Amino acid sequence: MLFGLLVLLAIVAFVYSASRRIRLLLALSPEWRFDRIGTRIGKTLEYAFVQKRMFRDLYAGVFHIFLFAGFVVLTVRTIALVVEGLLPGFILLPGPAGDAYTLVKDIFEVLVLIGVGMAVFRRAFARPKRLDLTLDAWVILFLIGLLIAADLVSEGARVAQQPAPASVWAPAVLVLARLFSGMAPQTQQAIYETGWWVHLLDILFFGNYLPYSKHFHILTAIPNIFFMKLDPMGRLGTPDLENSEHFGVSRVEQLSWKSALDGYTCTECGRCRVVCPTALTNKPLDPKVFIGQMRDAVYEATPRILAASTGRGNGDSAAPGRELIGGWLSEDAIWACTTCGFCTSACPVFIIPAVDKIIEMRRHLVLEKTEFPKEMQTAFRGMETNGNPWGISAASRADWAGDLPVVTMAQAQGAPIEVLFWVGCAGSYEDRAKRVSRSLVEILNAAGVSFAILGTEETCNGDSARRMGNEYLFQTLAQQNIETLNGYGVKAIVTNCPHCFNCIKNEYAPLGGNYEVMHGSELVSRLIAEGRVRMETPIPETISFHDPCYLGRYNGVYDAPRRILESIPGLKLQELPRSRERGLCCGAGGGRMWMEEKLGTRINQERMKEIAAAGTDAVGVSCPFCMIMIGNAKDEIGAATAPFDVLELARRSMGSRTS
Ligand code: SF4
Ligand code: SF4
Repeated sequence: MLFGLLVLLAIVAFVYSASRRIRLLLALSPEWRFDRIGTRIGKTLEYAFVQKRMFRDLYAGVFHIFLFAGFVVLTVRTIALVVEGLLPGFILLPGPAGDAYTLVKDIFEVLVLIGVGMAVFRRAFARPKRLDLTLDAWVILFLIGLLIAADLVSEGARVAQQPAPASVWAPAVLVLARLFSGMAPQTQQAIYETGWWVHLLDILFFGNYLPYSKHFHILTAIPNIFFMKLDPMGRLGTPDLENSEHFGVSRVEQLSWKSALDGYTCTECGRCRVVCPTALTNKPLDPKVFIGQMRDAVYEATPRILAASTGRGNGDSAAPGRELIGGWLSEDAIWACTTCGFCTSACPVFIIPAVDKIIEMRRHLVLEKTEFPKEMQTAFRGMETNGNPWGISAASRADWAGDLPVVTMAQAQGAPIEVLFWVGCAGSYEDRAKRVSRSLVEILNAAGVSFAILGTEETCNGDSARRMGNEYLFQTLAQQNIETLNGYGVKAIVTNCPHCFNCIKNEYAPLGGNYEVMHGSELVSRLIAEGRVRMETPIPETISFHDPCYLGRYNGVYDAPRRILESIPGLKLQELPRSRERGLCCGAGGGRMWMEEKLGTRINQERMKEIAAAGTDAVGVSCPFCMIMIGNAKDEIGAATAPFDVLELARRSMGSRTS
């Protein structure tokens, strides 16, 4: 009866806690995540059950899979024990099925204990930077260890009382049974009953501790992975500005349910922290802390939001609580993010710790409060008046082409073209990037590709405006461009800038712009592979390559620039320690290009030190922003390794000019 009462109490308490968490999700802003169910199931199997991302850190991956698999196996045992406690003599799995399960359970219990030991060692001795030594983590490890140890001991004592213990299929239990075999039957029974109670009480307590612990992820990780963002990583949400009551997010009430579920699910593993360029350079943004603060804000707001949703209070009469911005999260943290996306791709449970949430907050600051770093005003004004963040005359947008044979779409007058060359603001106005634009034109002409540009009809793609929170400006620019592109019936676009590339490829579609978009490196590597251009002049240098975030991490283009470098005679490619998926940001993304970097150390210098340490003759880049940031860092720290765009190198190697 006592056990029955405890189980009832535990269930009531758990239902109360869990229902509050679920009711909060239902009370927050809607977000449709029930599309593409087959894909979601596949991703859940891959990342929740096989735990693919966990194994990027082999040690953590191994002990985590022991714990996870052990918990799955032990669920059957827990159900059996609870029913056995309520109905003495009940056997859930009789006969051979029970014997087989006993063996599997025995093996997995040992694996869980090994896993707990590995986790304790890591926390107590190895102490990786990504972990914080919290009491919560120790409590959880203690509860898991106790849970398993109590079950093994209780089983050992029970088996020791049987006439033929050796017939039990459980090696670990048999070792303990042998240990207890010389004891008096009353002692064996007392050990059995104590172990049984400790195990069950542990489970009942553990279940009720979860909703208040970081280990809530045991219950929320699978749904969080199932409801992951399936749209391209580089596509931000497109709000309906005309019909919105508010812009962006400043209060918990304005968060989507998925943002809150992200907070519930954070395991505090710190994988996002150790890859984040702002955390690495001592800025006030650490994505692990950021998502933790969001979760704390959600927990604090829960009573208020639930009271309002049940009519026992409302948003006006209830105490307003702390604002997210300024209350929980500093504006400095919100403006620090380069949107490099490394935290997103590092998270094993598919949380987006920062980017999408931070952009929502920037939207609030820019569109509702007009509060943003003052230097951004220059970029906004430039984009508004001249269609480029430098604010240089829109009329001179095509001047970079000089004497090169380049036609505009208007001049082409409907003649068929293979591809539109989207030059971008940097490629049109920034000296170094203009050279890259000219290199691409020369390569396209040599390969006989028919192309055209928009010339003065092109305007900024809007990426920086959007990522600096000015969604209104982004949508205005994007709609203008889409109108122009659709007006000419453009199907295929090539661009040298990964920001233009990502934006037009992924963010124009919801606004009516659907095109096949290629990065310049993709098109040129294809032309080389097809033999339409040949790399002939040797460049006898060793060159590393810096992966631009919006080309690599956001869009998976890693091989094309490398293929170009590898096709150049005499050139040797040497990978940087942090390259491809692990490439470190240059510090310019997310509109940071247009903001001053006053806090912490400089991200571009951090990256440049790594490039310089590789000792190569030069570093290849494929992004005008990376070129500027790395070029500046080279001068600032006095490094010798100069940056070159891979298209400049391809042009150098291409042989005689045809234009
Ligand atoms: S997107 Fe990049 S800069 Fe921003 S929090 Fe994540 S890792 Fe840090
Ligand atoms: S957001 Fe993801 S990667 Fe970062 S601490 Fe939480 S679970 Fe780990």
